[in-house]
Order: sequence, then structure tokens, then C-alpha cells
Amino acid sequence: MGRVYNFSAGPAVLPEEVLKEAAEEMLDYRGCGMSVMEMSHRSPMFQNIMDEAEADIRELMGIPSNYKVLFLQGGASTQFAMIPMNFMKNRVADYIITGAWAKKAWKEAQKFGQANAIASSEDKTFSYIPDCSDLPISPDADYVYICENNTIYGTKYKKLPNTKGKDLIADVSSCFLSEPVNVEDYAMIYGGVQKNVGPAGVVIAIIREDLITEDVLPGTPTMLTYKTHADNGSMFNTPPCYGIYICGKVFKWLKKNGGLTAMKERNEKKAALLYNYLDQSQMFKGTVRKEDRSLMNVPFVTGDKELDALFVKEAKAAGFENLKGHRSVGGMRASIYNAMPYEGVEALVKFMTEFEAKH
Ligand SMILES: *Cc1c(COP(=O)(O)O)cnc(C)c1O
Repeated sequence: MGRVYNFSAGPAVLPEEVLKEAAEEMLDYRGCGMSVMEMSHRSPMFQNIMDEAEADIRELMGIPSNYKVLFLQGGASTQFAMIPMNFMKNRVADYIITGAWAKKAWKEAQKFGQANAIASSEDKTFSYIPDCSDLPISPDADYVYICENNTIYGTKYKKLPNTKGKDLIADVSSCFLSEPVNVEDYAMIYGGVQKNVGPAGVVIAIIREDLITEDVLPGTPTMLTYKTHADNGSMFNTPPCYGIYICGKVFKWLKKNGGLTAMKERNEKKAALLYNYLDQSQMFKGTVRKEDRSLMNVPFVTGDKELDALFVKEAKAAGFENLKGHRSVGGMRASIYNAMPYEGVEALVKFMTEFEAKH
């Protein structure tokens, strides 16, 4: 069997070119006689992989020199605790609740201080992004926290919240490297890479240098202190070497394919194809307010649970994998990350059109 069109929300599709290259290098990485998985993280060979990965993501995102790039472990979920442990100096932080991941981060922060939910879209199953132009930001908030692209619900901030001068921290797990960003708008950007960048096991955190200090909450473990990793080039302990190596290859693939500006154009073109179809379909409909739609995750329903299930089943048989929606939304979800080719979305729309005609 060949490769399927994989619409998984994460772990998700990676560029075929990257996978092939990794396969070629599996037994003997560039003449060193071993796999990247088997080499010392202290070797010059691996140091070079790390240095190139950092240089390439810096170039892709235009990361200013006063921001550190950390390659961490523990999934995006570990950041839910690390962020308050490292940054909640006044023990106050403001959270905007736009989905399950933001909510989990907010819940975790409550263990460490006063975490305020200053806006939420839970009233309508997180199907929109609340108006964030004039929120009740707490005067002593250490930061404002958002989840920029909501993987499960398929919404994305098109405009960042007005934080009234407070530092903004964003979970970008599911929109990482999908379009250009202005890093200086954030105090910290982070994401688990298994959605749009690489294999699960790596988290990339981009943090403004002045925030990385020893002044963390009492009892914060060494491994959960950003300074530990910043001071040691993300090699305080053994980093997720193989995962970082694959991320590095994805960065090179992105650079070769025109960088983030080109990626945004590609992603807009793919998403438009699917959304335009949904907007005219008599059977399928999108679940998200139009102006808040994500370019990465596209949830849709027929309105009939049995028809949804039949669609997922027939789609799978036709080579379209992982279209079942998240259990909290139901229906379907097509995740169309960077590595999903235009042809994949085109084929899906064709399949949906035929399914609609048949049923
Ligand atoms: C998947 C996801 C997470 C959780 O990531 P883990 O690596 O499984 O901890 C957090 N935030 C967002 C936006 C996600 O999509």
C-alpha cells in the first residue's frame, strides 16, 4: 500500500521528501557509520545538527537576537506548568479561553496563583474567537496567555489581543511555521512540534531573553526552569536528538519551498478550496464563524451522526485517513498542515462532492 492522504490533527503528516532523506540516512548518517539516533549528543556531528536547526528556525521566523530558542521535551502540556512556574512572579496571570488546550493551561496555572479567565468562547462550543480589543487585563498580571490556533475547534486569532502592555504568551502548536509572524509581538511563543513541524517529543520555545531568570517560583525543579536550558544550549540533559534532527530537515524543506510567506500562500489556497466547497455544500457545513477560521484545522459536520460516521468510513476506504472529528465536537476534521499537498485537499473535495451526490 502506498502513502495515504493523512488529515490527522497530530502527530501529523510530514513532507515526504524529509522522510525519504531520513530513511536514506538511517543506517549511516553522512559517512559517520551510525544513525543520528545512536550518536552522542555531545558529538560535533550532533552539535552541528542542533546549530543548523536553530539558525534555520531563526531565519525562517526572523527571530530577533534577544530571543532564545529552546528545544525542550514533555509536550506542549508541560509548558502549561513551566509558564506559571517561571513567569508568575506576582502570582497573577490572565488567560483567554478559546478551547480545550487554553483551558488546560488555565487550569494548570491555577495551581500556582490567581489565573483569571478574562474572556471565553465556551458558550458556543469554542466556535469563535472573542473580541480581544478591550479586555479587563489585570493591572498586576505577569502575562496574558492565548492558544493562537485551536486545533480541536478550528479557530485562529486573526489579530492578537490588546494586552494593554502586558507580555503575551502564545501556544502555537498547531499553526507553528504556517505563516510569517512578528516575534516581537510576543514574550514567548511555543509549540509541540508534532502538529506542523516534526515528530512528537520536541517542544520549541522562543522566549525573550529578559524573562529567563533564576527568579522562579520556589520549588521549581531544575528541569522545569527555562534558564537551565537556555544556559546549556538546550543540552542540560540529553535532548530529543532524533526529533530535533527531523525538525531541522523540515526547516530546510520550508526554506527551500519559499519560507513562511510562500507557506502562507499555499495554506490559504488549500484552505480556500475546502472552505469554498463547504460554503456551497448542501450536505456538509463548517462549524466555525467565518472570520475566525483556521488555515490548519477544518472541522465540519453533516448534521447527522450516522451520515458523519459513514463518511469517515468511506473516506478511509478511499485513502483519506484520520478525518474523524475530535470527540468533543463530533463530525469531521481535516487538518491540512504545511506538509499536506494541494492535491490532497483537491482529492478530498472531489471525494466529498461525489459522496454528497451519492447520498
Ligand atoms: C496538541 C496540542 C497540545 C498538547 O500537546 P502535547 O504535546 O500532547 O502535550 C497543546 N496545545 C495545542 C494547541 C495542541 O494542538
